Amino acid sequence: MNVCNFKCEISCSNKCCTGKTAITLDELYKYKDIFIFGFNILKTLDRSCVLDERKQLINKDFVCIENELYSHMAYFTAINNESFCEALENNLCKLHIDKPKMCICMPFDPMHKEYDQYELFNLKQKRMKNYCNGFLSFNEKSKDTLFYNNKFIDEKIKTAFYNYRKNLKLINNEISKNNEIKEFILDKCEENLFDYYIETYINVKLYLLIFKILKFSEDEIKNFINSQYNIVLQKLNNLNKDDSNYILLKNILNELLLLKNNYF
Ligand code: SF4
Ligand code: SF4
Repeated sequence: MNVCNFKCEISCSNKCCTGKTAITLDELYKYKDIFIFGFNILKTLDRSCVLDERKQLINKDFVCIENELYSHMAYFTAINNESFCEALENNLCKLHIDKPKMCICMPFDPMHKEYDQYELFNLKQKRMKNYCNGFLSFNEKSKDTLFYNNKFIDEKIKTAFYNYRKNLKLINNEISKNNEIKEFILDKCEENLFDYYIETYINVKLYLLIFKILKFSEDEIKNFINSQYNIVLQKLNNLNKDDSNYILLKNILNELLLLKNNYF
């Protein structure tokens, strides 16, 4: 029997809420005033190559481009500060009661199948052992058991996990039918030939695809563009040109400006 016992202490979020936060398609509008959205491309030589200490399986459902060499998967992220998530305030998540699905799933990983979560849980426990006390050492079923016998027993996590996967499948499916966006992805891969993770911006075609899939009204499109434009501009004004995100944010601003010229 495999058992995953975990109880997040919450108050130490400054230790784990680092890096880029994955945001699903259906979360983009909700968080438009909080996060600046970027676009990540993950590519693997085949669907079972080893990345990040574990088998990085790109489920066939999530592949947007497959060529002779690589399988590609794409997803959105919140572009954070160099060290911490933008939603972190005084070491606590200000979105705690309505946080992104990826964060609800912690310490599980919705990019991988439910069946693989026990193995991933153990790998994550090893990786985070120096700073996270959420992993509970006993391995019997208890009130803190989230996963048991290859299945989630925590309903909130299970719902977030499957919704996350549904969104990932939808955006990758839509991209797979759009030659212009596929070209953009392949161009970015060529510019970053030796990288498996490519962090880039959402281009105009991709924004338009998002608006179409999410069936935004004209007002929602304007609100979305304005919100993103304003927070990018504000961020850039306070950023040193040497900051690692500077060029990325400049590119995002340019794409949003092109959209603004189209819509306003
Ligand atoms: S217990 Fe672990 S997962 Fe929870 S906030 Fe602390 S470091 Fe993060
Ligand atoms: S949204 Fe909240 S829980 Fe998620 S990474 Fe940011 S601070 Fe952490």
